[in-house]
Amino acid sequence: MKTIIEPFKIKVTEPIRFTTEKERKKILEKAYYNVFQINSENVIIDLLTDSGTSAMSHHQWAAMLQADESYAGARSFFKLEKVVRDLTSMPHFFPTHQGRAAERILYGVLSRKKRYFISNTHFDTTRANIEYAGGTAIDIPCKEARDTQSDYPFKGNIDLEKLETLLKKYTTKVGSVIMTVTNNSGGGQPVSMDNIKQVRYLCDKYQTLLVIDCCRIAENAWFVKHKEPNYQKKSYYQIAQEMFRYADAAIMSAKKDGLVNMGGFLTLKDQKLAEECQNLLIITEGFTTYGGLSGRDMEALAVGLQEVFDKDYLQYRIRSTAYLGEHLDKLGIPVVKPFGGHAIYVDAKKFYNHIPSHQFPGQALVCDLYIKGGIRSVEIGSLMFGKSANGKFIPAQWELVRLAIPRRVYTQSHIEYIIEVFENIKKTKHQSKGYKIIYEPPFLRHFTCKLKQV
Ligand SMILES: *Cc1c(COP(=O)(O)O)cnc(C)c1O
Repeated sequence: MKTIIEPFKIKVTEPIRFTTEKERKKILEKAYYNVFQINSENVIIDLLTDSGTSAMSHHQWAAMLQADESYAGARSFFKLEKVVRDLTSMPHFFPTHQGRAAERILYGVLSRKKRYFISNTHFDTTRANIEYAGGTAIDIPCKEARDTQSDYPFKGNIDLEKLETLLKKYTTKVGSVIMTVTNNSGGGQPVSMDNIKQVRYLCDKYQTLLVIDCCRIAENAWFVKHKEPNYQKKSYYQIAQEMFRYADAAIMSAKKDGLVNMGGFLTLKDQKLAEECQNLLIITEGFTTYGGLSGRDMEALAVGLQEVFDKDYLQYRIRSTAYLGEHLDKLGIPVVKPFGGHAIYVDAKKFYNHIPSHQFPGQALVCDLYIKGGIRSVEIGSLMFGKSANGKFIPAQWELVRLAIPRRVYTQSHIEYIIEVFENIKKTKHQSKGYKIIYEPPFLRHFTCKLKQV
């Protein structure tokens, strides 16, 4: 069948407020052309992020009513612990309020002796937590990741040759190898089981820990099953279980594949390391049987972590993301390939090739998507990562616009609408102008900077 039907019925709805193009022009001007400054009620389709934006199932809502909110030894904790243990087969489990809290705890302990961390690509909060604790974060994505148009299936892999060189060079100064699955900052591209196995082999050889940043491990499992030899007969869940078996620890932001709006956890094999993490957890998050979460949160996560491996859900999830990518591609919009699990990335440098990097072509497209269709997206280019040194502008490596798809929130007709907005933008793209910054804060400027059209 060509039609992708959502494997759920809608029981509760949230109205979308429609705005006109004229209204949106005013709203955007008032927000200084920064979509982070727009209220969500003025957004028609929100593709800002897939983090914490999932719709929960009736099983999750029902579970929340059965929550045990006891301070210590809550039933809801044991329910979640059982689910996480079965999935990861790691003996130590700590709930946290979101992914970065687990990162702060684990990398707070591991960074202590100014160690090096090596990853396929550190997510920005991962890097920030490592650097804040005194460590150094090194990204070594595989060579195939550099070409946005090649359709190599596992562009989220780590460069194994570089990994061995770095492990040899830094030996005991390596804090851990971190595999981000799927590789969020690297275009949401998947990691192959073979790559993880080789990383495990090198970690054994050089006696280093392997941590999996597993926010999107279910989406990654889809790619392993369908793109990697010898995994067709395994279930998505079994594939994820196998991946965890190669790791020494895992960190999860449950706001992604946990199918919840808030939550995270840390899970570990080593007893001594777990004890150190537990001490930090109690100081900064909460007692061991709730971490940063309420009983309700743990109940919803225990159910979400199982639902996310449902084969009909994952098939719909990956296919509907690809559907958007395929249709934009057919329209001649340059998109990053192959399509990842949680988002489609538009190459704005190619699409808006009349706007130079220092005038932020990605942001120009973000603004056009908002004005023409009320669609909120995010620039991942020189506005986010560009720098200036001695008054000279240094562009980011790419000028991308990310269209992140919230889980179980939008239907196929919402996606058709997005495609139509792109069709309209394409017709008038030459009239689009670039932007310049009129205010920027010292860190993470994209959240609060103010812009002006040039
Ligand atoms: C979202 C994310 C995190 C951080 O998690 P939060 O829940 O936002 O704190 C860490 N790593 C990756 C890969 C992520 O996508």
